[in-house]
Amino acid sequence: MAGPCTICGQGVVPALTAPERMFGLGGAFTYGRCVGCGLLLLLDPPDDLAPFYPLGYYAFEPPPRVTRGRIDRCLRRNRVRFRRLPKRLGWMNGLIGPDSRIVDYGSGTGSFVADLRRQGLDRAVGVDAFAPAGPYVQRELPPPPIDLVTMHHSLEHIRDQPAIVRRLSEHQPVGGHLLIRTPLADSFAAEEYGPDWVQLDPPRHLVVHTPTSLRRLLESAGYTLVRHWRDSTGFQFWGSELYRRGLTLADFRTPAHDGGLFSAEQLHAFEARAAELNAADRGDQGCFLFRRSAR
Ligand SMILES: [Zn+2]
Repeated sequence: MAGPCTICGQGVVPALTAPERMFGLGGAFTYGRCVGCGLLLLLDPPDDLAPFYPLGYYAFEPPPRVTRGRIDRCLRRNRVRFRRLPKRLGWMNGLIGPDSRIVDYGSGTGSFVADLRRQGLDRAVGVDAFAPAGPYVQRELPPPPIDLVTMHHSLEHIRDQPAIVRRLSEHQPVGGHLLIRTPLADSFAAEEYGPDWVQLDPPRHLVVHTPTSLRRLLESAGYTLVRHWRDSTGFQFWGSELYRRGLTLADFRTPAHDGGLFSAEQLHAFEARAAELNAADRGDQGCFLFRRSAR
């Protein structure tokens, strides 16, 4: 036993040990699994995680520039108003208007915020305590109220999650929304690949949730789950296959790129399998939309 689960209070038992694989830094990091809610918890996180976020880390790439004419801006704001956002942002239709205050929490250098600003959403900002400064990224949360908070694969990097979600809930009005996208420990790929599962990602991922643990965490801070869906991709297969062969993500090769660890047919099959798993609620990552309910 490794102490009680920080989410549900039940026992956590050692489950699997894996090295850092994205950059090939090695080490041995052990995760425990909660016998109650199923979440995976990194039992021995390094005191200093900075060496595991080197300069080439994907979230810290320079953000794309946002340039827009006045008429274009007006047209785009109307698309937000009339619920005609692009498909990748379709889940936001009806939740926000052109003047909604939006925070992408754990934004990195702000590529998602730049995407929102291109839609005319001028009040979208990123918050990231660790990323290099970007044009729309700040270190601290703006003052309340925040209508919509998004967390795109950032929650799993946070150690004291109950404190963070409490703080977010204090910044949101009743009826405000919170979207969390995160890897999921109850997925086919997590079970099939174990320590080679590409989204385990030790030691950066400190907590890997299940839908049960995530819901419990958010309900404790006054949120209600509105809906959820899986959005996994072929990455769960080609990434995990690389790790299973002792390679790193930098070794990814296709016939079109360096002549081929994976054929085009294989990559296509990986995407098709991901779509099947998503439909069966077994893909290795998901989106969870919560609403701030009455205090
Ligand atoms: Zn638990």
